[in-house]
Amino acid sequence: MSADLVLQGIDKTFADTGAPVLRDFSLTVAAGTCTAILGPSGSGKSTLLRVIAGLETADAGTVRIGGHDMVAVAAERRRVGMVFQRSLLFPHLSVLDNIAFSGRVSGVGRAAARARAADYLAMVQLDGFGNRRVHELSGGQEQRVAIARALAAEPAVLLLDEPFSALDAALRGDMHDLLESVRAVASPTIVLVTHDRDEASRVSDRIALIENGVLLTEGTVSEAYRRPRSLRAAQLMGGRNEVPGTVRGAVHHSALGDVPFGSGACEGAGILVIRQEDVVLHRGSAADVPAASVPGVVESARVSGARIEVGVRCGDVLLSAEISPTQPCAVGDRVTLSLPADAVHVVSI
Ligand code: ADP
Ligand code: MG
Repeated sequence: MSADLVLQGIDKTFADTGAPVLRDFSLTVAAGTCTAILGPSGSGKSTLLRVIAGLETADAGTVRIGGHDMVAVAAERRRVGMVFQRSLLFPHLSVLDNIAFSGRVSGVGRAAARARAADYLAMVQLDGFGNRRVHELSGGQEQRVAIARALAAEPAVLLLDEPFSALDAALRGDMHDLLESVRAVASPTIVLVTHDRDEASRVSDRIALIENGVLLTEGTVSEAYRRPRSLRAAQLMGGRNEVPGTVRGAVHHSALGDVPFGSGACEGAGILVIRQEDVVLHRGSAADVPAASVPGVVESARVSGARIEVGVRCGDVLLSAEISPTQPCAVGDRVTLSLPADAVHVVSI
């Protein structure tokens, strides 16, 4: 039931503002896979989903689903389901009839539509909630019903527009698990819009970064984190280390010294990036460190969730490392940072 989604050269400008919202946006989401669209607020994510769904018309470009051009296909015939941050369930219908709605609209009899709806209710782990009214549900349950309602229409493509961002962290985690189990059974092609990097990496196969209506990069989750295509892509993925320098051979030369790197730009000017999680911190000197090692002094140490963010001054460069609180580390400590070559990446300037 899933299908490839292929976007080609989408442009969109709203007449009243005149500013381009989507610019030459091309993206392919393979059948049955999930791509997260990650980007700052106002970057055009919702507009992109609305264009895919047929709720907005693009000025240029094509939307193809399962090889078919959708330009002349009305929204309700595109086999696209959508779930928003607010569930938009019908308050006057029971939970079961909300889910049965698409079946009823497409001509399925009441009993058959309800029977099928009950299956979808079970899929989102809400057996026994069918007779409830929408106002009797918690926020998390409401989003489960919204997902069941979208799935009941058997969409080829499921579009999720920040569907979990109003939920607390524990519920969000439950929803991520739920989405995984739904994908195992129904496997629609999914586009998930989120501004939460952890959510994108937990739920999706690939991540597409968007900024100012432009696709910056698209790739696997690990490429997004560890092989960013540009400095901006690294920054949007939360990378905090960037060191300008020059590449000769497979070595990056900078104020940090000579650092061998595993991937990225070839000869010439390049910025070294390494995830703060990949920087290894040793106390004192570390003669036996197998990677490039850089001496420094701890300048700051801040608790961030279950980890500690450490700023280490290495000459002119301030590097960031994330360490476990079990590792003793205090401001003023002399330390050595090691930068494993396979974690070091260089982007062109
Ligand atoms: P995101 O979902 O990434 O936050 P949106 O797609 O909602 O971004 O919006 C992108 C830009 O388009 C914003 O500047 C927003 O103000 C503008 N925009 C969205 N919808 C409309 C509309 N219907 N008319 C005019 N401008 C709009
Ligand atoms: Mg939005």
